[in-house]
Amino acid sequence: MNKKPMPYQPLLSNPAKIAVIGGGVAGSTIALRFAELGLDTTLIEKGPSLVNGPPMCHLHAGGNLYREISDQQCLILLKQSIDTVKVYPSCINVRPTIIALPKTDKGQPEDLLPRLEKLRAEYERLISNDPANKVIGEPADYFQCFTRADIEPLIGKPIPKKAQCPTDWLIAFANHTNLDAIKFPIVLVQEYGMSAFRLAAIATLAIERLNNCHLQTNSKVVAISAQTDHLGWQITTKDNNSGKQNQQEFDYVVNACGFKSGEIDDMLNTKRKRMVEFKAAYVAHWPKYQGAWPEIVFHGERGTPQGMAQLTPYPNGYFQLHGMTQDITLFEQGLVSSSANSAQPKLPAKFIEKIDKQWPAQLVNHRTLGSIGHIAQYMPSFSSATVAAKPLFGAQQIPGQDPDLRAADVSFDSKHYARAEIVKASSALEAADAILADLVCCGLIEKSALTAPYKHHYFPVSQQSSDTDVTKRAIALAEQREYPSALALNF
Ligand SMILES: Cc1cc2nc3c(=O)[nH]c(=O)nc-3n(C[C@H](O)[C@H](O)[C@H](O)COP(=O)(O)OP(=O)(O)OC[C@H]3O[C@@H](n4cnc5c(N)ncnc54)[C@H](O)[C@@H]3O)c2cc1C
Repeated sequence: MNKKPMPYQPLLSNPAKIAVIGGGVAGSTIALRFAELGLDTTLIEKGPSLVNGPPMCHLHAGGNLYREISDQQCLILLKQSIDTVKVYPSCINVRPTIIALPKTDKGQPEDLLPRLEKLRAEYERLISNDPANKVIGEPADYFQCFTRADIEPLIGKPIPKKAQCPTDWLIAFANHTNLDAIKFPIVLVQEYGMSAFRLAAIATLAIERLNNCHLQTNSKVVAISAQTDHLGWQITTKDNNSGKQNQQEFDYVVNACGFKSGEIDDMLNTKRKRMVEFKAAYVAHWPKYQGAWPEIVFHGERGTPQGMAQLTPYPNGYFQLHGMTQDITLFEQGLVSSSANSAQPKLPAKFIEKIDKQWPAQLVNHRTLGSIGHIAQYMPSFSSATVAAKPLFGAQQIPGQDPDLRAADVSFDSKHYARAEIVKASSALEAADAILADLVCCGLIEKSALTAPYKHHYFPVSQQSSDTDVTKRAIALAEQREYPSALALNF
């Protein structure tokens, strides 16, 4: 590919050759972080394009969708999300989230407040450290509670095209939710959305401009071995189209293979405990009531028939749906662990079949209609929504043995080898920074990479693409992947 000239001088000049295996959000972010600094970076991806793994639609600026995780993880996710908004602003869908507790739920809305207060205080602290951190609104507005008396007067009002004030976001909710089915107050929190298609577009456009980022798509790593005469690695890749094998040498390898990270660990005979979980979200079309929709979350106990129901809005009447029940987002035998013999958890073949090939049409219909019904328990008019596309699905890795872990980034084992082990997309930058520090420790790059200005996420090229360029490329990617182009548009 002919690269466009790079519009700035690389800052570091090192002979070290770095390979990043896996071009998901982790691998792409790490490769961009290194290449933008001027490091010789090769990104090897077995698929045809970048950021095409399991979906991501929530930024998780505070982890409020997970009551079960620790406050500490929520605070980490808040910081990581703020950094992500600063680096990838045009993949963020700026709309708040309503959190409602159904009457069937054991918890009380007040139980949510202590954590929200902690998050608000932390957001305030981050802004006082650096005013540029103010990317999710005023700290005072981080969350707001609304009683039934606040909501009822909104019933019957038309849904505004654009929200001008917090109550505008409540109109769609007021008009469609069975208020008798939920507890009050409800909470409006600045939990934004993010678009995987737009992130894929930003990464691809930037890599096309960066001379020192060598992208090898359709290229699967099939073997890896340590060099015998110096610290470094020989990687064998197989081209998907020609079947030809190729060998390349690198000084440092980053394993960013997502739920397949264990396969690279196994090639290196490295032990690692991890879990892999297969999950899916569904795409529905409900064009009748368009306008300023917030994300709406009806909490519920994970894995039970009353598991959390999530409605994520996109433009043009499209919605992404999660239902944390075994019949919707979760799957029986969908959570597996590594073993003493292999660092790669083995998902049953029926899930690999879905990832590598396709879903049976009947199952797409069955599960999507199930997700529509799950939302309609609380929003009865939503039962008229229709199945709009194949599910958004995939397997995610969770390092260690705690299935509730959500804030994770990287682990190191052999020298000159790192594993990106993110559970949430917003942790990718933290992973990149930790590996950068290890590159300095290994003596492969200059210490100046860790000092100002480069220590503050330095992504001049990634940030150059205009919203229009990102939208155009994101739509092309959505269509190529057979999803409605609305999922690639900013909300
Ligand atoms: C249903 C669902 C909903 C989710 N929603 C959200 C959300 O709202 N927000 C959020 O932050 N996160 C969400 N996640 C989690 C998120 O999708 C993952 O954490 C994230 O995609 C992990 O990124 P990754 O780059 O580590 O892995 P991946 O995206 O899986 O990327 C790994 C890449 O490595 C490549 N690869 C694998 N093996 C090889 C090899 N041998 N050679 C070359 N390439 C290889 C793969 O092709 C792939 O492109 C969700 C996950 C699921 C399943």
